[in-house]
Amino acid sequence: MDANLLGRVHHCQCGRDHAVLTKRVEIGRHILPELPQWMLQDGLTGDVFLVADERTWEAAGRQVYQILTGAGRNVRYHILRGEELHADSRCIGEVMVAMEPVADVIVAVGTGTINDLSRFCAHRLGIPYLIVATAPSMDGFASSVTPVIRDHFKITYPGIHPTQVIGDLEVLCQSPLPMMAAGFGDILGKRVALVDWALGQTMTGEFYCPTIAGMMEEALQACLAVAPQLPSRSPEAVGGLMNALALSGIAMQMMGNSRPASGAEHHISHFLEMRDMARGRPSTYHGDKVGVASLLALRVYEKFFAGNPPAQGKVLAGEELVAALQKAYGPAFDGIMQESGSYLNLPSDWEDWKAHVIENWARYQKTAAAFPALRAAGAQALRAAHGPVTPQDMGYSRGDIADAMRYARFIRGGRPTILTVAAQWGCLDGIVEEILDEVF
Ligand SMILES: [Zn+2]
Ligand SMILES: [Zn+2]
Repeated sequence: MDANLLGRVHHCQCGRDHAVLTKRVEIGRHILPELPQWMLQDGLTGDVFLVADERTWEAAGRQVYQILTGAGRNVRYHILRGEELHADSRCIGEVMVAMEPVADVIVAVGTGTINDLSRFCAHRLGIPYLIVATAPSMDGFASSVTPVIRDHFKITYPGIHPTQVIGDLEVLCQSPLPMMAAGFGDILGKRVALVDWALGQTMTGEFYCPTIAGMMEEALQACLAVAPQLPSRSPEAVGGLMNALALSGIAMQMMGNSRPASGAEHHISHFLEMRDMARGRPSTYHGDKVGVASLLALRVYEKFFAGNPPAQGKVLAGEELVAALQKAYGPAFDGIMQESGSYLNLPSDWEDWKAHVIENWARYQKTAAAFPALRAAGAQALRAAHGPVTPQDMGYSRGDIADAMRYARFIRGGRPTILTVAAQWGCLDGIVEEILDEVF
């Protein structure tokens, strides 16, 4: 990754300053032995607390422990036990209790869950942390917010950025193929997220930064180019994927939120995750759901922009909508109402928003015309890396996907996506039915 990007504030052409607080992203072969020196260079001195789970301890944790103690660092560690670990109150509490007295730096060794809970603890304790990635499975490595599960609902808490993101290809290339497929799924979602962001800007005049969008676009293209080589575990492909995932987190740091990296596909994925939690069903990887949801959301774009702007249809509102949400979200309903209760009705300037979309109709139509080829390539890459391609591959029913596509927009009511636009236009339900007929 371009070192000029890191550890500084960028005065951007968009008019805003973008801060990247992460000082170092290193992706390469046999780089773990450099860690003690890099930590000192970036001011990560003092007592180390290493957090891993049973699997990531074997993958790299023990090695990191030996390298750091070998370099004279005082290291304590905690290994989270068990299969279904989440960044939830239980795991966070366990790490907080185990770390007594408070260390000077947390070294997280793992992927999503370990990274999320270490970031949360580091933020709470006011100490820095770094992440040694064990699989290129999701794009949250360099992010600075923390999704934490509380009362069946994923709440985004403030966190801190990692000071360093370390991806040793000797470790990453050994990670299970399905985890790589999940990472690729998370990157495939950027196509949807970027168009959703642009659509938001077109429609409501929301802030949009072409520089950040361009960075994400480059990462996406680089990753699509190497994706077919993932199944052979080529260091170039795995490194390209890891770089795209890290860059996505950097883009979120620059923006100050996840808009450049998360759109309709992430909302659908979060919806399905909540449904799994409500059912007490083990969930698949985050990126698995994002990848499959991306294929669905791209199809929504294709159908919505297929012809001329459609006529305004009937929109579900008021009591009827609330009842539908209650049914669809179950135990997460209260959380949803808290987050999006003020977005249940058509916005007062909806006719203006529509007019802006219609003015730009041809542009989005052209964008969507490239999506069938992207879906085919994406599905092929996912399948080759043993990742799921259809909702059925992950055990979801037609009803689950219908609910997710219809109501996932309320996960983040204030952030419009193609699902919001189609729903407010009154054509989402029809499009969803057509897609479900194709998929099921
Ligand atoms: Zn900018
Ligand atoms: Zn993601």
